[in-house]
Amino acid sequence: MLSYRHIYHAGNHADILKHLVASQICRHLTKKEAPFFYLDTHAGIGLYELDSDQAQLNQEYDTGISLLMERNDLPEPLEAFVEIVKELNPDGKLNVYPGSPMVVNHYLRQKDKMHLCELHPNDYPLLASLFPKKRVANVVKDDGFLAVKAMLPPPQKRGFVLMDPPYEVKNDYKTVVKALAEGYTRFSQGSYAIWYPVLNRRQADDLINAVAATKIRNTLLLELNIRGTETKRGMAGSGMIVVNPPWTLEKEAQEFLPFLRDALAEDQDAHFQLRWITPE
Ligand code: SAM
Repeated sequence: MLSYRHIYHAGNHADILKHLVASQICRHLTKKEAPFFYLDTHAGIGLYELDSDQAQLNQEYDTGISLLMERNDLPEPLEAFVEIVKELNPDGKLNVYPGSPMVVNHYLRQKDKMHLCELHPNDYPLLASLFPKKRVANVVKDDGFLAVKAMLPPPQKRGFVLMDPPYEVKNDYKTVVKALAEGYTRFSQGSYAIWYPVLNRRQADDLINAVAATKIRNTLLLELNIRGTETKRGMAGSGMIVVNPPWTLEKEAQEFLPFLRDALAEDQDAHFQLRWITPE
């Protein structure tokens, strides 16, 4: 089943958390001269036209990026991320929003390399045309979960793996944890980020507990809920589970998570979580 299209959701609160964390991981990786490898298991189309019919349907970007563009009091990591969005919108109007490959591409140096997997028959060609140069990115119409086995460890020996499945099939909750464990066995020095939705508390906690059961160490949880989980149907929030995070991420998140909770809150039950699933 491949009915999920990310363009309906581009720029929402969940994208903000996901892309902010991805941006901070890349900033950390590019502090060193040595090249890095980026694997995006579920890459989407890379760049989202916000005036498209699909993005306009629910205007989800109004729960996320729209609320941040005009702020002049952003915590520094968030300011750096919003600057990427502003650079893509030079006329000052929010026309496009970057997907994860585009966020990472912002930091990519000539020596770094991306491997982008996208299975959707309509989305794959859009992504491939955005990144036509093989030197920069391998864009493949492959199952991203299988790429974890095929592509790791990377020759660069440094890298970041983003796993951002749509969870439209319930099995994704299990497969993503299995893929993390497989990836980590092959490449334990890499950074990994699993994105998950908070549709109901139990489902999210089951995923978090399954990650804890892998006993992979040095795993940080960042979760942002813009409303109470029981208030109304739909996605109240989302989280990022980060294995081998930059050592500064926890401290940065102590500032940006409360800021995002207040800036994006839809009701008084908005809240965040920041904790180690397993310490170093
Ligand atoms: N990571 C993107 C971003 O942040 O901009 C958004 C990705 S979206 C949540 C999930 C994407 O995964 C969809 O475009 C979907 O077509 C694709 N997809 C679903 N199952 C897949 C699989 N097994 N392998 C690769 N791509 C898959």
